[in-house]
Amino acid sequence: MDALKDIDKPYAEAERIAPLVRRVLARNPSPFTYTGTQTYIVGDSAEVAVIDPGPAEGEHIDAILEAVGTARVIAICCTHTHRDHSPAAAPLKALTGAPIVGCAPLTLDDDGPRADAAFDPDYRPDRVLADGEAIEGQGWTLEAVSTPGHTSNHVCFALRETGAVFTGDHVMGWSTSVVSPPDGDMTDYLASLQKLYEREQDTVYFPAHGPAVEKPRQLVRGMIGHRRQRERQILRQIEVGHRTVAEMVPQMYKAVDQRLWPAAGRSVLAHLLDLERRNLVSRTNDHWTLVAQA
Ligand SMILES: [Zn+2]
Repeated sequence: MDALKDIDKPYAEAERIAPLVRRVLARNPSPFTYTGTQTYIVGDSAEVAVIDPGPAEGEHIDAILEAVGTARVIAICCTHTHRDHSPAAAPLKALTGAPIVGCAPLTLDDDGPRADAAFDPDYRPDRVLADGEAIEGQGWTLEAVSTPGHTSNHVCFALRETGAVFTGDHVMGWSTSVVSPPDGDMTDYLASLQKLYEREQDTVYFPAHGPAVEKPRQLVRGMIGHRRQRERQILRQIEVGHRTVAEMVPQMYKAVDQRLWPAAGRSVLAHLLDLERRNLVSRTNDHWTLVAQA
């Protein structure tokens, strides 16, 4: 991950990155989180919102509180409930009295397939924002943009005053998003990419990991193209006789860090399920075959 050298990592320090927006980076770097989770503080006046409070680490929470200073936190917003995004919401609520708003909690059956280890099962929102619903503070308005795919409950937040969008893990500049079934859904993910692409008013994306995206629609168009290319690659793999995900991944991800192969396998499966829904492939156990087209 040589790219890490190119980005400075001022952990536990608030940095101004745009009008109305400051960032605090959590010290949880990994192949999945890049330099760590970026918590955003929106608002410069007496009222602020905190987006993706991050992991419940004392150092990180202290840094958020220091950045907030004497302002009042009026909303703690979570884009989704992966463990690197939402666990600090509860302690931050306890310390500030602010409500937790934004994405829905996941409905987890006791032994449900959605209850995997990456999820924060303790997330309890005070208010779930529906698509298009907004919250307002002094000088700012954040609108929820429902973007399922990476997770079924993923929401982006658009800052109406400047055209910035906080994209969580839905769109990031440094990496494509992991889409892991059953909660991750490629059909939804592609629709959510298209949804962002159609928002011509957006000026910049602030993802939860990695640098800001200055040409957002161009990136999204490229990502849609990338997914279509993956799709064609998968169909080709089946054609040449690689019928299981385990056979496809080493062929398709030769150039990628092997630690990421299990996640890549989840994405391939997500594509296959999407292709199955579109009646282009069918499955017998873990073997996939092409559906003959009339
Ligand atoms: Zn995530």
